[in-house]
Amino acid sequence: MDEKYEGGCACRAVRYRMTARPMFVHCCHCTWCQRETGTAFALNALVESDRVEVLQGEPERVDTPSNSGKGQVIARCPACHIALWSNYGGIGDWFRFVRVGTLDDAARFPPDIHIFTSTKQPWVVIPEGMRAVAEYYKSAEIWPPESLVRREAVMAKMKAAG
Ligand SMILES: [Zn+2]
Ligand SMILES: [Zn+2]
Repeated sequence: MDEKYEGGCACRAVRYRMTARPMFVHCCHCTWCQRETGTAFALNALVESDRVEVLQGEPERVDTPSNSGKGQVIARCPACHIALWSNYGGIGDWFRFVRVGTLDDAARFPPDIHIFTSTKQPWVVIPEGMRAVAEYYKSAEIWPPESLVRREAVMAKMKAAG
C-alpha cells in the first residue's frame, strides 16, 4: 500500500500523488465519458480520496452532469482546466476516479473491466478474455478481495461521518 504514483495536469500547475494502487480500473464507454473526454472512452482508476495527495496547486471543483443523473464533481486544474479526477453520485469526496491518463506512468494501470460497452464505438475492439459488461456491475461480484476490504473500510467511515 505504500506505493506512490505521481501525476498532474498539462501546464504542471497541479501535481498529485496516489499513495496506493487503484482498487479497480474502469474503461468506460458511456456516451457521457465520450463527450466529456472528446474521445472514445474514459480510463478511471478508483481509489480512496485520502490516498490522493495534492502536491502542488489547488484543483478547482466543477459540478458536471453525469450518466446516473446524480452528477459528478470534476477536479480540474484552475489554469489549464485538465480533468484530474472526479467523484460521482453526490456521495461526497470519499472515492476518487482518477483519470489514468494524467498519471506520469499511465501504462501501469490497464483496465480491469470495460463498462457500458452497449455504447462502445464500433471500431474499439476489446481484447479476448477481458472483462466487459454492457452497462454496470456489482463490485462485490468482481473486485478482488483486498479491494473489497478497502471499499468496506471507506463505507464504514462514510457511515460514521453520517
Ligand atoms: Zn494545469
Ligand atoms: Zn462513462
